[in-house]
Amino acid sequence: METVDCVVVGAGVIGLAVARALALGGREVWVLEAENAIGTQTSARNSEVIHAGIYYPAGSLKARLCVQGKTMLYDYCASRGVAHQRCGKLIVATNATQLAELQNIIYKAQANGVHDLQLLSATQAQALEPALQCVGALLSPSTGIVDSHALMLSLLADLENAGGTLALNSAVARMHYAQDAIEVVAEDGTQLRARTVVNAAGHGAVALAGHTQGLPQAKLPTAYFAKGSYFALAGRAPFSRLIYPVPEKAGLGVHLTLDLGGQAKFGPDVQWVERADDLQVEAARGDAFYAEVRKYWPALPDGALSPAYAGMRPKISGPQEAAADFCIQGPRDHGVPGLVNLMGLESPGLTSALAIGAFVQGLLEP
Ligand SMILES: Cc1cc2nc3c(=O)[nH]c(=O)nc-3n(C[C@H](O)[C@H](O)[C@H](O)COP(=O)(O)OP(=O)(O)OC[C@H]3O[C@@H](n4cnc5c(N)ncnc54)[C@H](O)[C@@H]3O)c2cc1C
Repeated sequence: METVDCVVVGAGVIGLAVARALALGGREVWVLEAENAIGTQTSARNSEVIHAGIYYPAGSLKARLCVQGKTMLYDYCASRGVAHQRCGKLIVATNATQLAELQNIIYKAQANGVHDLQLLSATQAQALEPALQCVGALLSPSTGIVDSHALMLSLLADLENAGGTLALNSAVARMHYAQDAIEVVAEDGTQLRARTVVNAAGHGAVALAGHTQGLPQAKLPTAYFAKGSYFALAGRAPFSRLIYPVPEKAGLGVHLTLDLGGQAKFGPDVQWVERADDLQVEAARGDAFYAEVRKYWPALPDGALSPAYAGMRPKISGPQEAAADFCIQGPRDHGVPGLVNLMGLESPGLTSALAIGAFVQGLLEP
């Protein structure tokens, strides 16, 4: 059986960021990816927004890693020529209750170390975005967008330049801890022994942790799937910043995001489903989008939205539960030397990826 230093399971943005951090730290790293390409799952099906770190509970991993990851990501993109834009976002209140909520968002952001939010009157917001209807808004200047595919290619290039290896079509079936190493068994029967394994398998992470012999199962979360569908806007985008309603319980509301080509899309909505691969966009869900979007953009023309794509949130809290934090369990949490499980890495996982890489590296230090 071949022995390697580190195995990272999963080549999404987080697996690649972790693998890169470990390889730059001088470790031998193999990334095992089930699909025939990197970044085809959740990392390819999101809003590509660099989040400011506004909404998450103070002290949570989501808050800390998002705020740290945002700075790291902007610096990384600038230094590596990864396409991105610090376009800013408006969080818009469309009624009096939401107006009061804007102040709470400012307090939450400040508790997370985000001090650049600006409270705008309706007139000030409309001066920035004339198509907008609102009773007030918050401007988040540090929110932006990034080309997530270019980012992943750049992370892979760093990994390979540091001597790391990517193995595609290499689905990991199970693992077990034996004699100071973790044995990793692929679905085709291939086996590897590794001193360190990072399970960054996205939707497969909880299941793989469940198939890890020697790992106490009591602390493993339950996986849930919350689909988010997007609808594309035909024609020119009416806004130059991202436009978000005041957030909802399970997601950030039907917001408008822009890609780097200026194309606008609305979404994602929230639909709890049974399977991670249930990614078909139901055209009928678009009807509800018109009502939501017209709350802040009344001029949305009939027939302007068409089904685009869907992403699946890797949830570890169910529909009736409070949103869970990222669940990152290392040796001190579960007692298995060298093993880190990354579970529930939903939004802001893309923004946080580089910070998660550094965090995992820290967990693995003796
Ligand atoms: C609708 C939506 C919108 C979002 N918008 C944003 C946003 O705007 N900004 C932001 O910061 N975050 C956003 N996110 C979150 C972000 O997309 C995720 O946090 C991030 O992409 C997760 O990356 P990952 O590498 O953990 O998972 P993935 O990208 O899913 O990668 C996991 C990889 O593991 C592989 N794999 C699975 N099982 C196995 C196995 N057994 N063996 C080998 N390989 C395996 C998969 O094939 C996959 O390639 C959004 C998420 C969703 C769903």
